[in-house]
Amino acid sequence: MAEEYKAPRGFHDILGSDLRKFRRITSLVRTLLKRYNYEEIIVPIVEFAKVFERSIGEATDIVQKEMFVFPDRKGRVLALRPEGTAGVVRAYIENKLYALRPYHKFFYEGPMFRYERPQAGRYRQFHQIGAEVFGVAEPHADAELLKLVQDILDGLSIDAVIEINSLGCKLCRPTYREALTRYLHDVSGHLCDVCIDRKDRNPLRVLDCKVETCREAVKEAPKMVDFLCEECREHYTKLKLYLDKLGVKYKENYNLVRGLDYYTRTVFEAVSEKLGVAVVAGGRYDYLVEEFGGPPTPALGFAAGIERLMLLVDEPEKDYELYFVIPFGDVYSYAINVADMLRRKGKVVELSYRGGGLKKQLELANKMDADYAVIIGEDEMREGVVSIKDMKTGEQKKLKVGELM
Ligand SMILES: [Zn+2]
Ligand SMILES: [Zn+2]
Repeated sequence: MAEEYKAPRGFHDILGSDLRKFRRITSLVRTLLKRYNYEEIIVPIVEFAKVFERSIGEATDIVQKEMFVFPDRKGRVLALRPEGTAGVVRAYIENKLYALRPYHKFFYEGPMFRYERPQAGRYRQFHQIGAEVFGVAEPHADAELLKLVQDILDGLSIDAVIEINSLGCKLCRPTYREALTRYLHDVSGHLCDVCIDRKDRNPLRVLDCKVETCREAVKEAPKMVDFLCEECREHYTKLKLYLDKLGVKYKENYNLVRGLDYYTRTVFEAVSEKLGVAVVAGGRYDYLVEEFGGPPTPALGFAAGIERLMLLVDEPEKDYELYFVIPFGDVYSYAINVADMLRRKGKVVELSYRGGGLKKQLELANKMDADYAVIIGEDEMREGVVSIKDMKTGEQKKLKVGELM
């Protein structure tokens, strides 16, 4: 195939066994979200680039390097969404949902786009399923959200450690930021080039740099938890108490900052030990709605990366039986009716579209992973029966069509 007809780098097809894993994940997460009474919302894949620049933060890698940005025909700057929260926040305000009820709980599912170096489980078009809660400041909402994350991990039998941290609020974070910046200046000789550049613009990001010398250099760095104001400290303490009550296993990680600017107070990641990366992540963003022009609205959410989870889950077992109908001779008017009746009874039925001898047809039935072959010749049609063959045992018998059900 000519190179220009292939999918662009980082864009992939999902099919077969991968797609079954994909659906296993999304259907489990949807079932759990339903149980917590989240309502689905579908927002556009394209927004004005400003929506992401404002929310995710101008100084972040996502906005600076990873967004797919393009002009429309009138020169307005649009972007493919790199994450889900910004669009849901925009929709919440634009539809004035805050006027309807004191709080809202939404979930979304769909493709996200980031121009990153592709690697295992990381693509330029990837998929997330995520949830957002608007209008709730209380820490039991944070705890419940983390219990939901734990339920997802348990439901998929995934080994991952939930790490939590608090990033404080408007009142307490600036003092911490100053202390951290001072510290980073002292150790700047040990920082990588990227961190030297971001220690003033975005000092918190230095804390989660993966470069070994940076990790060493920040070991003794001041911790946000030591700078929390009274209210933030109480929020964090209560969160941990509720997590204990709910039996959610977690680990405090004082260097956990997440890559997005909008987080306040609680942040978390569920980190897979096998992959060494976060498979679910999120946190609180209490000022974002207001910064977008909405009323003051505390909020929180999480997103799960479906391709990453796919690396960790088994393919679901087949949960249906396939009936493969094989017509011989001029029996199609009868055969299509048998297939139709079976389908109306809720059976999964494939009517063979290929001719050929019985051996060839049974081979095809095997390729299709059929559980039963329903063989229909002219004798069967005359007698109003079918011959049914159990593909596993090889056992074959004649049955009236009614008996098939
Ligand atoms: Zn605070
Ligand atoms: Zn670094």
